[in-house]
Amino acid sequence: MARNPGTSPGLAKEPSGAEAAQESIGHVSDLSCIGVGACDVIEDFRSCYYDRGGFAPIQTKRGCEMKCIYCTAPLLEGCVYRFRPMAHVIEEMKAYEEVWGVRHFFFVDSTFNHPLGHALEVCDGILGAGLDVEWFAEVNPVSLTGELCRLMVRSGCIGVTLTPDSCSDAVLGAYGKGFGMAEVRNAVGLLKKHGIPFDTCLIIGGPGETVETFSESIAFCSEYLKDDVVRFYDGMAITRSSRAFGIAVEEGLIDPLRPYEELVFGNDFRAVKRYEYFFPHVGADREGLSRLVERACRGRRWLLTSKDYVADSLTGELSLRPAIAVQQGARPWWRGLERQSQPAEPVAS
Ligand code: SF4
Repeated sequence: MARNPGTSPGLAKEPSGAEAAQESIGHVSDLSCIGVGACDVIEDFRSCYYDRGGFAPIQTKRGCEMKCIYCTAPLLEGCVYRFRPMAHVIEEMKAYEEVWGVRHFFFVDSTFNHPLGHALEVCDGILGAGLDVEWFAEVNPVSLTGELCRLMVRSGCIGVTLTPDSCSDAVLGAYGKGFGMAEVRNAVGLLKKHGIPFDTCLIIGGPGETVETFSESIAFCSEYLKDDVVRFYDGMAITRSSRAFGIAVEEGLIDPLRPYEELVFGNDFRAVKRYEYFFPHVGADREGLSRLVERACRGRRWLLTSKDYVADSLTGELSLRPAIAVQQGARPWWRGLERQSQPAEPVAS
């Protein structure tokens, strides 16, 4: 994407001091060397992607300072934030508009609103440049404020994905999220107050989850998010470099001496399944827990990954079941989501 390959990270830049320390683990400290992305090298961006309801991806920073136990982003991008010069971000957005007539953007930062000061700067940058754009991002409950919400709306935000992962204090602690239900409630309240459309993602059945905490999450969603889009992921994917991997090893679920690839190629599906941490201690009833969510989803705009998505047999690409309609071209896509009307069933808490 960089216009001049000679200034691409790791190719020609002379690192020194702190930069060299970051680069030793593969991270360039000064992101000004990326320059402005060359959106004109993308073929048919408009017809192949944008016109179907897509967004142009824009990254304003790299890294994440949060410590969620399953996540590899801090390893891949670093656990210290590195910021692109705002002028480059704005120039890139302008270039998309000039080349492709694109005015919808997805901020693909690991999480848009952390740190808060940078998120405010991005909104100010868009407003200062007078860009007539609409944008989408993922937000973390930890640093959402009224001031930021106001600026988000003014600068063109048309939706966010809220990523609490659980609606139980105990599980938020166990998942290492760095915030509790006070922040989740605050974030939900602010988004509703400022009229920002949002969907919410939850991981059910990960380390620390019990039947009781699971019921707390469902009860919270039933009370506060019953008319909103909620996406439930049944099970936490375990990657080798995550803290969750250590937990799964300690609990005897994963044998660290047998690499994942070996299990896959050896068709040892029982062992492969253990890389998806889903209520391992609940036994046969865990399928019953999935069914509870499935029933709660009926008649609502809630989705359960294992039931509502189907994988293409050739490509593995996931799409929604035919019974779930998405209005063509809706941005973000879940704003156009409609499930066949079936009454939601009450869920025992
Ligand atoms: S906030 Fe998001 S990107 Fe950061 S560690 Fe947690 S899940 Fe990963």
